[in-house]
Amino acid sequence: MFIPKQSVAQSKSMKKVDTVKVLPKSEWKGVAGRPYKQHVPVKITVHHEGGKLLTINDDARQRLKNIQTWGMGPDRKWADVPYHLLIAPDGTVLEGRNPLTVGETNTEYDPTGHLLICFLGNYNQQKLDDKLLKVLTDLLADQCMKYGISPKEISTHRDHSTQTTCPGDDIYSYFANGYIVKQVTKKLKKRQ
Ligand SMILES: [Zn+2]
Repeated sequence: MFIPKQSVAQSKSMKKVDTVKVLPKSEWKGVAGRPYKQHVPVKITVHHEGGKLLTINDDARQRLKNIQTWGMGPDRKWADVPYHLLIAPDGTVLEGRNPLTVGETNTEYDPTGHLLICFLGNYNQQKLDDKLLKVLTDLLADQCMKYGISPKEISTHRDHSTQTTCPGDDIYSYFANGYIVKQVTKKLKKRQ
């Protein structure tokens, strides 16, 4: 495979922090966000989109574009998509809102200081597979390193709100049994 010089340099500098490639907004034809409250992430919260199921055969990019169009429209008037990073059912990770701006929520918790990672689809009905679990734990380890966040500060939406079952029963089960935090801790130790 031909690799242009520039991307070799980029991937070298990326290596220190990022093991998961995050595809830019242009991949899903996202528009730039509007200016919004700034923050620095000090914890990470995992979500699912909820609502409609999304399979590997569905168009995750179009789904995300629709979320943005709806969220920035008259219904919500948000500055951008509510989440900072989004994971498609095939394990592709897509860029959302600028991580240095506060996310959005329909529930009672204050998302200030939370980096919001969201699985597209509904994990009350669908299930994580080994690939998605690996993408999630790698991505969480990347973000912990990037912002100096302890794996102990990783949780889910329902840990902060009584108004939701987000991130769905299947994703939540891997938090309830401690699997996610344990895996991320292990990965971070290996990277030191
Ligand atoms: Zn949520």
